[in-house]
Amino acid sequence: GKRIAVMTSGGDSPGMSGAVRAVVRLTLASGGISYAVYEGYQGLVDGGDMIKEMRWEDVRGWLSAGGTLIGTARCMAFMERAGRLTAANNMIEKGIDALIICGGDGSLTGADKFRAEWPSLMDELVSTGRRKKHEVEHHRHLNIVGLVGSIDNDLSGTDATIGCYSSLERICQSIDCIDATAFSHKRAFVIEVMGRHCGWLALMAGVSCGADFIFCPENPPSDNWQEDMCSIIKKHREMGKRKTIVVVAEGAHDRQLNAISPNMVKDLLSKKDGLALDTRVTTLGHVQRGGSPCAYDRMLATLQGVEAVKAVLDSTPDTPSPVICMVENKIVRKPLVDAIAKTKEVAANIARKDFDAALKGRDAE
Ligand code: ATP
Repeated sequence: GKRIAVMTSGGDSPGMSGAVRAVVRLTLASGGISYAVYEGYQGLVDGGDMIKEMRWEDVRGWLSAGGTLIGTARCMAFMERAGRLTAANNMIEKGIDALIICGGDGSLTGADKFRAEWPSLMDELVSTGRRKKHEVEHHRHLNIVGLVGSIDNDLSGTDATIGCYSSLERICQSIDCIDATAFSHKRAFVIEVMGRHCGWLALMAGVSCGADFIFCPENPPSDNWQEDMCSIIKKHREMGKRKTIVVVAEGAHDRQLNAISPNMVKDLLSKKDGLALDTRVTTLGHVQRGGSPCAYDRMLATLQGVEAVKAVLDSTPDTPSPVICMVENKIVRKPLVDAIAKTKEVAANIARKDFDAALKGRDAE
C-alpha cells in the first residue's frame, strides 16, 4: 500500500486534528500505511520517533479537538537545503513519498519548494552515500498535497480555510460579552482581532456583531478617517445607542500604510473636547485560536482530508501539487502554486497601496 504522511505546520487552527484524523483513516481504508509527522517540519528534519505510524484508533476523538494534537512548530532548518536534504533522507528511511500538509501559505510554499527539489535531493543522497541507488529508485517523485489550516481565512482560491469559522464564532461570543458591559456603562470598546494581512475576521466579526466601525488592511479608511469615524459614532449615539464597538484587525493601517492601533482609536474616542466616551481596549489574543472546532470546520476538515488522500492516489509525476479548496460549497483541487501566487499578489497590492486590486484579489474565485 501507499505510505502517506500527514503533518500540521505554521499557526494552529481549530479543525487541524480533524483533518489529520480524516487523512489517517482514509489512508488506512484505502489499504495504505499512515504516518504522522509531529511538530511540523521540525519533525521531518529530526526524523526517528517524530515520524510515527498511525493506527485507526490513534486518532479516535480527534474530530472535536482544538488546535493540533500532532503539534506544530516554526522550523528554521527547513528553510535551508541542508535541512530539506535531511528531511528527505528521513522520509526515504520509512519509504514515504507522499506528504499531506495542513498549514498556512508559508508552510505550503515550503512544501512546494521541497517537491520541486526532490529529484535533486534524491541524487544528492545517493552521491553522498547516505542512500543506496535502489533505495531511492521508487521514490523519484514526491507527492505533496496542501490543506489550508488558518484562522485568518487568508488564502486566495478558497472560500474558507480550516479553522476560520471557529475563530469567528469565538470572536463573536467574546464581543457579545463585551457588548453587555458596554451597554450597561454606556462605554466604548476598541477590540483588536487577529489577521495580520487579512481582514476577514475583523470584517465578518464586525458585521456579525453590529460594530460601529471596522478597520481591515485591504480596505483602509479615508484619509480623514479620524473625523469620519467620530462623526459616525456621534450619530449612532445621538440615535440613542448606549454602546460603541470598534473592531481593529491586527494589521490595520491607513491609506499611507501607517499603522492604526487600538490605542490610537481609544484616544480619539475618549478626547475630552470630542466624543468624551469612556473607552476601553480589549485585545482578544489567543482565545481566538483555541477551543473546539465548530461543526463547519469539522466538516471542512473531514471532506478536505478525504479529498487530499484521493489526490495523492490519483497523482502522477506530471500533475502539479494540488491544494484542496472549498469553492461555492464544493470541494475542489487547485494548483498549489497558483493559489499561493494569488495570495502573495494581494499582499503586494496592499504594499503598493492599490487597495482596489487587493480587494478584487480577495474576492476572485
Ligand atoms: P501562518 O499563516 O499561521 O503563520 P504559515 O504556514 O504561513 O502559517 P510560516 O511560519 O510562514 O507559517 O511557515 C511555517 C514553516 O514552514 C516555517 O517555519 C518553515 O519551516 C516552513 N517554510 C515557510 N516558508 C518556507 C520556504 N519559503 N521554504 C522552506 N520552508 C518554508
